[in-house]
Amino acid sequence: MSDLNTDLLARDEGLLWHPYASLDGGAHYAVTAAKGATLTLADAHGSHEVIDAMGSWWSMVHGYRHPVLDAAAHAQIDTFSHVMFGGLTHAPAIELAERLVAMAPGELAHVFLADSGSISVEVALKLALQYQDARGKSTGQRFLALRGGYHGDTFATMSVCDPVDGMHAAFAPLGREQVFLPRPPSARRTEDGTWEYDEALLADWETESRSLAAEHATVLAGIICEPVLQGAGGMFIYPPRALRILREIADEHSLLLIFDEIATGFGRTGELFAGEWANVVPDIMCMGKALTGGYLSLAAMLCTPAVAETLRIGSSGTGNALLHGPTFMGNPLACAVACASLDLLTGPGDPRSPQAPWREQVAKLEKGLHDSLMPATDLTAVKDVRVLGGVGVIELDVPVKVHELTHAAVARGVWVRPFRNLVYVMPPYICTEEELRTLGVALTGAIEEIHGA
Ligand SMILES: *Cc1c(COP(=O)(O)O)cnc(C)c1O
Repeated sequence: MSDLNTDLLARDEGLLWHPYASLDGGAHYAVTAAKGATLTLADAHGSHEVIDAMGSWWSMVHGYRHPVLDAAAHAQIDTFSHVMFGGLTHAPAIELAERLVAMAPGELAHVFLADSGSISVEVALKLALQYQDARGKSTGQRFLALRGGYHGDTFATMSVCDPVDGMHAAFAPLGREQVFLPRPPSARRTEDGTWEYDEALLADWETESRSLAAEHATVLAGIICEPVLQGAGGMFIYPPRALRILREIADEHSLLLIFDEIATGFGRTGELFAGEWANVVPDIMCMGKALTGGYLSLAAMLCTPAVAETLRIGSSGTGNALLHGPTFMGNPLACAVACASLDLLTGPGDPRSPQAPWREQVAKLEKGLHDSLMPATDLTAVKDVRVLGGVGVIELDVPVKVHELTHAAVARGVWVRPFRNLVYVMPPYICTEEELRTLGVALTGAIEEIHGA
């Protein structure tokens, strides 16, 4: 075999952009195959198999080339892959929306299918503005967001990302000023299932949040947050009780509460949706990433009947339509795979059943990550190791040497993509205990090699 990796990387460089990268050398490996939890990387000696600790950025929950998902995709391709959603509908979209409504907590009952997570957040923000306009609060055009959050890369979503790390500075002229609440204190869920956090710090956070909300209430439309786990903004876990406080603040000022569950949804944190750690139901919820089991780009926004009804009877200039409609809205192929993926997650019968297969899978993942990552605590460069559901985070006290560490992990059989000072994993739910052990040994070994014992 010729050096396929070098050849593909040479053709890629200068031609393709990769996420948050310059045109020069944004990729370091080429993938030639993927199956189960394993990626095959081409290299100078042929090929090299690695466990995908990233689950393709939260999305690949059932593993690559799952026979049920492959079959669902093939069957839909043989029926029709796409058709416009304006004026037309189809079974895959309807069945998906019915499943999402049955899975979602509370009475979230109306669904907008978007083509990516960022777009579902855009639609959620638009809906909140249109809602406030329809109820006669046309000044309600800004959002309260948490510092440290991440909600997407489009302009409106960037505006609610962390104001320091969230690319605001680069695009200031086009951005919108939002109001930021401080980050709640950190929390950890111990192995015996209790939440540990500093109550006094949470009380301070509550006081400050209530006062900021009151100060800006007249210009606000809603509050947006990633419940319990902030993802790309820092893999930060905070107390579920903070969500109850945000719910109260929203109700007090008639603001809509928006949960961005794009990363946390579908069982990843150990509850079907992370807001359920606090039994808080938002007015609007966004889902994405794992929705199609990692096969295709699809996201969804759900809202309550109260929100939908206000929009329906609203007599403002926008009429009663929700003003968004992407070309690939409700893509049948993506919807069909999503239906199959949700069936695998929840099993037959009640999607919220305590017996749903994802529960046992994520519980095993949580235990396996605990056992395999905690030894990293002993390394001097490691500041904290935390696990919540199927998410594991090793926080260093120095910025990770990303390229070197990735290389050292790949040499040990694991694909990982750290950022800032964080080596984090969210492996597919189907990972075996053996694979999780390999993952822990590889990451601990790689950190020791690159950042010292
Ligand atoms: C990934 C992510 C998004 C953006 O989703 P895309 O599909 O990448 O546009 C938004 N919010 C959260 C919490 C995410 O993790």
